Amino acid sequence: MKAKSLLDLQEYFHNELVCAQYLEQMRWDGKPLCPHCGSEHHYRTTTRFKNPALKDYKDFLCKACGKKYTVITGTIYECSKVSLRTWLLAEYLIANHKKGISSLQLARDLGVTQNTAWFILHRIRASFKEDHEEKLTGITQIDETFVGGKNKNRHYDKKVKYVGREPSRVDKTPVMGLLNYGKVRLFAVKDTSYDELRGVINRNIELRSIIISDDLYSYRTLGESYMHFIVRHSAKRYRSKEGFSTNGIENVWSILKRGIIGIYHYVSRKHLQRYCDEFAYRFNTLSLTVVERFEDAIRRCGNARLTYKVLIS
Ligand SMILES: [Zn+2]
Repeated sequence: MKAKSLLDLQEYFHNELVCAQYLEQMRWDGKPLCPHCGSEHHYRTTTRFKNPALKDYKDFLCKACGKKYTVITGTIYECSKVSLRTWLLAEYLIANHKKGISSLQLARDLGVTQNTAWFILHRIRASFKEDHEEKLTGITQIDETFVGGKNKNRHYDKKVKYVGREPSRVDKTPVMGLLNYGKVRLFAVKDTSYDELRGVINRNIELRSIIISDDLYSYRTLGESYMHFIVRHSAKRYRSKEGFSTNGIENVWSILKRGIIGIYHYVSRKHLQRYCDEFAYRFNTLSLTVVERFEDAIRRCGNARLTYKVLIS
């Protein structure tokens, strides 16, 4: 598939059958696997998709477990009234808006209701989530930032009271970022306490590797388990004694904030992790071309783990 534009893509995916066949290729590399038991042995049955547009497409019947499946069983596209064609166009639009796309804009572009667009966005965002099985090694920059609603946009009984000089942080959610050789992991955390931040570090960074951070109090004992270099921001320093900086992760924050302010305006605490996953995905795939990012997004529809391996290989 060599789509240079949305028009090419629309012409290529001109009906549901083409979309289903394309998805088979992307999801399974042409070798269908039963999503129930993992077997590759199957029959093609005459029973058909409920979708009338797929009248020529046959279901799979697993020889091992006897269950039926289709190319969308176990994917984010399952159990929705949205056509495959709409899903694929949505993947393209979402994967290629550098700063993200609002549900309002997506609804307009796809000709669906805003509710449908919202649902599509959240499902696709969920597919961008990485499982972070491998710990980071080498040099990792870590930092936190605060994102969330602005007080002036709140209903009067939900406004947050000013506490001393720091009114803004009270109603905002901290996000912790780990930047390792150009790839970022983002976590919406409960607070910036020692326990909370240390938990993220222990789960994600290999012991004894190098960590660069600012002089936040919660990081004070990192040196016991890691090689810890500190940039003393409180003393207006921008490099550690050894010459390290946290410029990389601070650059991630400026992109994240531009996205949230410019596109999403207000991100609720509940959904923040999913937005973080989406931004991390965009950031980590910056070097991919439009078509590569689209194909990578499609491969994630059923198994994010597999695609991560494809991505980094
Ligand atoms: Zn099976």
